[in-house]
Amino acid sequence: MRFENKVVVVTGGASGIGLAAARRFHAEGASVVVADLNDEAGAAAASALGDRARYQHTDVSDWPQVQALMTAAADAFGGVDVLFNNAGIGSFGATPDLPVEDWRRVIEIDLNAVFYGCKAAIPLMRARGGGAIVNTASISGLAGDYSFAAYNAAKAGVINYTRSLAIDHAREGIRANAVCPGPVDTPIIAGIKAMQGVRERWDDAVPLGRFAQPEEIANVVAFLASDEASYMTGAVIPVDGGVTAHTGQPN
Ligand code: NAD
Repeated sequence: MRFENKVVVVTGGASGIGLAAARRFHAEGASVVVADLNDEAGAAAASALGDRARYQHTDVSDWPQVQALMTAAADAFGGVDVLFNNAGIGSFGATPDLPVEDWRRVIEIDLNAVFYGCKAAIPLMRARGGGAIVNTASISGLAGDYSFAAYNAAKAGVINYTRSLAIDHAREGIRANAVCPGPVDTPIIAGIKAMQGVRERWDDAVPLGRFAQPEEIANVVAFLASDEASYMTGAVIPVDGGVTAHTGQPN
């Protein structure tokens, strides 16, 4: 019950990693606000959690909607203690063919939205005397991938923004850390997985030999958000089955 009497906001909480984290936070006593664009899945997720949970329609790339999300969380549950900035989209395309609109959309949702969430939540955390932020980056923010230019840039931005947050707010008792998942079995990569042979090649590239389940990322997120991680801030934690431990040289 690490989150008893805590209020947790999870963006992208209708699916995948966010859904697994919302369940975990709630199971450990938190009041949880699930924020997403997918109203059907988001409302279903919140109602399956039951008491101490609500859904708030939020496009995280829209600053007024993110402000409304934090206001809704504070109105419903009295404040915000933990923010899991996790909503995100994938992107596919290399420069120069990548359309400008695709680049902007990925930067808006995968990077700018993390800033919007923190900007809206930090005053509420200050009012509670502290808080914890966990941002979902990616191993794609630590190194480059083929044809993931915008996503690579956005996730690298999330990583260094998290470090900056950690420094700026450490003395206020607000910690900020980033998780860098490797491949996780969620809908975001369904299209890629469906390509001929890709799933097998990815499995081969992961030292543990498989994709993560969303709960395996949520476990680390919950740890980072909890008081067990009280001396961790500005950390960037790969949860990647060993991918980034490998130089890439063949066996
Ligand atoms: P997912 O598609 O299951 O979940 C993403 C959720 O974000 C969805 O519910 C979607 O509706 C929501 N969302 C998308 N755009 C939104 C917006 N503008 N406003 C509000 N909600 C929005 O995928 P996931 O794998 O659980 O992804 C969660 C995070 O993990 C993302 O930031 C993603 O980049 C990151 N990530 C995923 C993987 C992976 O392999 N699955 C690897 C590394 C990082």
